[in-house]
Amino acid sequence: MKLRTTRRQALGLVVGAVAALIAAPAIAAPRFGADRRALAFRNLHTGESLDLVYWSDGAYHPDALDRINYLLRDFRTGEMHPIDPELLDLLVKVKARLDTNDPFEVISGYRSPATNALLRRETEGVAKASLHVKGQAIDLRVAGRSLSTLHRVAVNLRGGGVGYYPRSDFVHIDVGRVRYW
Ligand SMILES: [Zn+2]
Repeated sequence: MKLRTTRRQALGLVVGAVAALIAAPAIAAPRFGADRRALAFRNLHTGESLDLVYWSDGAYHPDALDRINYLLRDFRTGEMHPIDPELLDLLVKVKARLDTNDPFEVISGYRSPATNALLRRETEGVAKASLHVKGQAIDLRVAGRSLSTLHRVAVNLRGGGVGYYPRSDFVHIDVGRVRYW
């Protein structure tokens, strides 16, 4: 950077500083979803990835939600179901607290009733009235953060149900009643 400053440059700096002050509220420190909400996912079953803004200027983007719904579909049957935007907003808060841009690695998003029934027969701990069937739950981990950190952050947010599955290496997060297991 040049140290000598001409009068014209100095004036430019002042104008720039004033402009920055005026612009400051719009670029203030990131609050939750203040101007845009973005998420990145990797579906571990299909290998598909997404990294997109799904909300900005006060509105959800239907095409972005469609792409998220597709990525989080029931991979066993191919069925799609709307994922509750409230769940996405909760994940944005989790991401902010984890201070990461690494994608959420998804083990399970939407589950059709048939898939949920199948899993109930094969696995312990699958609820009959699973919120996965309503598009209100997700099982995930984040590559750059420990599972216990992800779990603690999700519990502290009190945004719904949180289940800890260290042996299967994922955390379940939903937007149902606040409860922990
Ligand atoms: Zn789950």
